[in-house]
Amino acid sequence: MSFHTNGQKTVKEASQVRSKDLTFLQRTYIPEIVKGMVLTFKQMLRPKFTRQYPEERFNPQPSYRGRPVLVEQNGVERCVACGLCARVCPALAIEVQAAETPLEKERYPERFEINMLRCIFCGFCEEACPEEAIVMSDEYELVFRKPEEAIFGKEKLLMSTERLKTRLEFLRRSR
Ligand code: SF4
Ligand code: SF4
Repeated sequence: MSFHTNGQKTVKEASQVRSKDLTFLQRTYIPEIVKGMVLTFKQMLRPKFTRQYPEERFNPQPSYRGRPVLVEQNGVERCVACGLCARVCPALAIEVQAAETPLEKERYPERFEINMLRCIFCGFCEEACPEEAIVMSDEYELVFRKPEEAIFGKEKLLMSTERLKTRLEFLRRSR
């Protein structure tokens, strides 16, 4: 197969590949339309499902991305205040202020805040953290009466490893 010097195929060459790959029936899209219609009718015949929330709770899967929290292990946060999560956060929702600690990790976040009005639950902070110190929890109920209430400090962010067990196991499996 020939390419132009810039690496792109000509329109003619591209259409030759397409006609070779697709059968006549596939090119009419009829099988895909029929498949779509069958799926739609199947769904129409299924019983309706409405969750009676909040009486009936929603229990998310371990892959669910609820509000980000700080992992607390043996009474202290795992965080070493490197600031990577704050750098990667697209919503600029995280603020970290580092300080020294006599513990082996040497640094800890004296102040760690997430503005939950800014957070878009993207999970980038979790992905960037080298210490597995910030993870997405299964908590999804957030209510604020004033903007200040949406600034979550360490007292609201710290969550024990026992409470986060399923998420931490999920992350280890999927990394
Ligand atoms: S989940 Fe996304 S938006 Fe929210 S704090 Fe983490 S990086 Fe920022
Ligand atoms: S949570 Fe992780 S990425 Fe964010 S400052 Fe702490 S150690 Fe660094």
